[in-house]
Amino acid sequence: GDADVQCDVLVLGAGPGGYSAAFRAADLGLRVVLVERYPTLGGVCLNVGCIPSKALLHVAAVMDEASHLADLGVRFAKPEVDVDKLRAHKEKVVAKLTGGLAAMAKMRKVTVLRGKGTFVGANQLMVQLEAGGSQTVAFKRAIIAAGSEAVKLPFLPDDPRVVTSTGALQLRQAPKRMLVIGGGIIGLEMGTVYSSTLGTRLDVVEMQDGLMQGADRDLVKVWQKMNAARFDHIMLQTKTVAAEATPEGIRVRFEGAGAPAEPQTYDLVLQAVGRTPNGKRIDAEKAGVAVGERGFIDVDAQMRTNVPHIFAIGDIVGQPMLAHKAVHEAHVAAEVIAGELLGDEKLAKSAFDARVIPSVAYTDPEVAWVGLTEEQAKAQGIKVQKGLFPWSASGRAIANTRDEGFTKLLFSEETHQIVGGGIVGTHAGDMIGEIALAIEMGADAVDIGKTVHPHPTLGETIGMAAEAFEGVCTDLP
Ligand code: FAD
Repeated sequence: GDADVQCDVLVLGAGPGGYSAAFRAADLGLRVVLVERYPTLGGVCLNVGCIPSKALLHVAAVMDEASHLADLGVRFAKPEVDVDKLRAHKEKVVAKLTGGLAAMAKMRKVTVLRGKGTFVGANQLMVQLEAGGSQTVAFKRAIIAAGSEAVKLPFLPDDPRVVTSTGALQLRQAPKRMLVIGGGIIGLEMGTVYSSTLGTRLDVVEMQDGLMQGADRDLVKVWQKMNAARFDHIMLQTKTVAAEATPEGIRVRFEGAGAPAEPQTYDLVLQAVGRTPNGKRIDAEKAGVAVGERGFIDVDAQMRTNVPHIFAIGDIVGQPMLAHKAVHEAHVAAEVIAGELLGDEKLAKSAFDARVIPSVAYTDPEVAWVGLTEEQAKAQGIKVQKGLFPWSASGRAIANTRDEGFTKLLFSEETHQIVGGGIVGTHAGDMIGEIALAIEMGADAVDIGKTVHPHPTLGETIGMAAEAFEGVCTDLP
């Protein structure tokens, strides 16, 4: 054809979905072109999401822990934060990872085109090159991995003191008072960073009747008790209705059950009310790909859109908008395509078949959950029984002086197979994978309880929660 570049697979967007798809497809022997509008690979997750937030949360947790040590007889001087240096550290972490991706792309001979891609036909994409000019790419198959963007509330003023998570991660301000709009994971993680590292006082406003929606309330309650001191107002069932930029700060008016009588003034306002998919910005219709009203693209279990040779993965195909989901979907799409193009029937049958996808709030303590929650079980009329192990009985948690948490497992009343679990406590996110594995393997309470976990670890609490369910008493402190 008349295209500038030909390939087997065109991948649009180089986030966790896009780069994983590109790498898997290349490893399977396909010629891959990866199109990314930003100067580095890695998408939201590596550049302005998962990774920079965790680099800062690590520092926040160390600072909090250092101050807790005063109760144990160890006192440090009051920490002084050099924000420029902290930001540079975060940027170094990001650069290490995104640079690693660029090297891996090169090693695999993936062609990376820098620029904005839009479809011009069922087998062609045009790239408005970063360097100027444009190129067309002809493809046999395409994988759309264009991700999502933060939702912006229309009534908030256009002001440097009003940011999304991307702006908050830049640490350009050291606010005394910060409003977090939206009590979900992203908002609470960023609030934690500002509160712990910069001493910022927090307010949070949430339309629903509780923070961290999706997690069981018993887990969230533990987090909330430990974090109450960071907040002046936790406004639930409340909406932000108006905001105005003044020299003193952003003046915000609220309405609802938790609204303070007077408008409040903030040095920084973080909008963290969700993310919207980029489906409407890629001219998908020119390739015949159907995009829903909200910008999501529907796919089947093989990640195929309504156009059989075009696939979509990651945030753009729907909830949960999480990097680990995107990566697994990416592998499926790449495998199906390789199977079809190379005539490998087994690969062509690849499908996304996860029973469960874990969620983690990397707050302090962390809150992690996977599979069915108690609230979902109740709402869906599914009969479950729980095994619970309080960390106040975990030797390791006590030794860590962090025994506020607990580990909860939910079992089918009928089969005693595990159907869900939740953990609140330090390192909960690092432990939830074991529960996900148990669910995927169809493990029952005896399987988990009889698995020898190392002592003394926090992970041991998973085995003990299963034993608690089995009614087997344990005398391990
Ligand atoms: P994205 O990462 O959004 O990547 C899409 C890429 O496509 C982008 O690089 C974009 O520039 C590019 N693109 C879009 N349109 C075009 C176009 N027309 N032409 C060229 N390029 C284009 N998830 C977790 O699992 N764990 C976490 O701890 C976590 N923390 C987060 C913290 C924050 C602050 C945020 C905002 C998100 C966090 N997430 C986390 C979510 C995670 O970042 C996303 O789920 C993940 O990045 C989705 O990957 P993706 O490949 O679908 O899309």
